[in-house]
Amino acid sequence: MSFKGDMMINLINMGSDIGNMTINAFNAIIESDIIINYDNIDLSDLDTYLKDKEIIAKDLDKSNDDVIIGLDESESIEETCDIYSKLEEYYSKIEMAISRSSGNNVALICSNERNIHGIANLLIQFSSKYNGLELKIYPAVSPIDYSSAVLGAPLNDFVAIDLNNPIVSDKELKNKISFALKNDFVLFIHNPIGENDERTNFNKLKEIVNDYNDELLLGIVNETYTYEISKFKDINDESVKENSTLIIGNKLSYKLEDYMVTSSDYIVKPKFISQNIDFFERYLKDETPKGLDYDCEYLPCHKELEACDFCYCPFYPCADGLTGGEWIKDKDVWSCQHCDWVHLEEPCQAIRKGLENILEDKNDLISKHIELLKLRRECLLETLK
Ligand code: SF4
Repeated sequence: MSFKGDMMINLINMGSDIGNMTINAFNAIIESDIIINYDNIDLSDLDTYLKDKEIIAKDLDKSNDDVIIGLDESESIEETCDIYSKLEEYYSKIEMAISRSSGNNVALICSNERNIHGIANLLIQFSSKYNGLELKIYPAVSPIDYSSAVLGAPLNDFVAIDLNNPIVSDKELKNKISFALKNDFVLFIHNPIGENDERTNFNKLKEIVNDYNDELLLGIVNETYTYEISKFKDINDESVKENSTLIIGNKLSYKLEDYMVTSSDYIVKPKFISQNIDFFERYLKDETPKGLDYDCEYLPCHKELEACDFCYCPFYPCADGLTGGEWIKDKDVWSCQHCDWVHLEEPCQAIRKGLENILEDKNDLISKHIELLKLRRECLLETLK
């Protein structure tokens, strides 16, 4: 195939629906002469802008010939679950886009179905066979962003894995999942269920995660904004469908009201609290208790209390609900009443060790707050199960 004149294909990723398209993608559609609606996505909201355009859809709608031009009979694709049929469907649409791009601006519309990046990879591979073909790829709200937003804020550093890529071996899949879990990445799982409700890889995922830590938090996101959040061990298999996405939290993920959240970089400026400063002045002189303080009239002040080393917390206010702290509503006060972690023996030891390199002066509590929060995170990852 050779081309004359301008040749342009705009690959428009739509995301889960038209509402997840970007304004840049919308403008590219308006500037295109031919619209190839690869996945028969409902474009009726754009009718006003599409009036003068040639629209090629997957199925011929004979009642609407002036708007939709269907494929030749020879090009029609039977809906089968066979992976080659699916690929051929992709190929034929891409080839059609390429052939129609000679002298035209073509918008090739696709969903993120079964692939985070739609068919961008295939299109780039195909177009490299031709001279003078220009591509522009417009992202949509990806399933990653969409699922994260539905659940709340579960992503910090994360790994995204397609669970049903047909050319990924069991070994590769297992290595990737295990690596992500062992290195405290949040895990985004795309395509959890294969064609025809094939659940082999999903069951493998369950086995690997359950072996590693079945207490991890899991978010299941389905279409139409529905979601479930539970511990991984309580996963409801019925809720995981072909188009679901899963987000498996790490040790720093927790549920805050109806949201799934992973501790991130939300930092509240520390305030000068005289009792805190006084405590750490004594701490630096080695005058504060180690282990349980049996002389304290408030003992036991926490449900799970093993050590009173940090009766006052060097991280205050961490503003991170993972360990039980919470905002007192309408008071702008961070309460540590339900944080037991800082009063357990193992975290106390880890924090003491870390403070040796940070706290030299009581005022470091304020001036080195970010360094202290870094230490908190390190100690959490080290001590949480
Ligand atoms: S006691 Fe717990 S909740 Fe309070 S600041 Fe320290 S780590 Fe955070």
